[in-house]
Amino acid sequence: MDDNIRRFHSNPDPPKEGELYRIMDVEGVQLHIFYGYYHPESERGVIDPMPIYPDFTEAPMYTREGYPLVNADQPICPHFFLNPSAYESDEGWCNDCVYLELYDACLGVCRCKYNRKRE
Ligand code: SF4
Repeated sequence: MDDNIRRFHSNPDPPKEGELYRIMDVEGVQLHIFYGYYHPESERGVIDPMPIYPDFTEAPMYTREGYPLVNADQPICPHFFLNPSAYESDEGWCNDCVYLELYDACLGVCRCKYNRKRE
């Protein structure tokens, strides 16, 4: 994985909204992850900005091999198969699925053959 983490231990100041968190290269898909808010109306001024990951349920993205990118907290699909080492959440997250290959704590690739896009 090719990534470029701008901050962490070196900068003690809280991140600013709109600041670049990291650039990720996920098997041919380049993602720029910025700091912001998922719910700006209620969060801005209350908590520090956080890394905002794309919503792949709204706008699907696929690796060059056709595997879908998924968020770890994305709702499960009909092909969910519980990872034996995972705790199964009540809500049902991709994070608990054996087909998820994580690229960082929040984002990964679904390796389920049924979800793979073929041209
Ligand atoms: S990781 Fe893939 S197969 Fe598993 S629940 Fe998520 S979308 Fe479905």
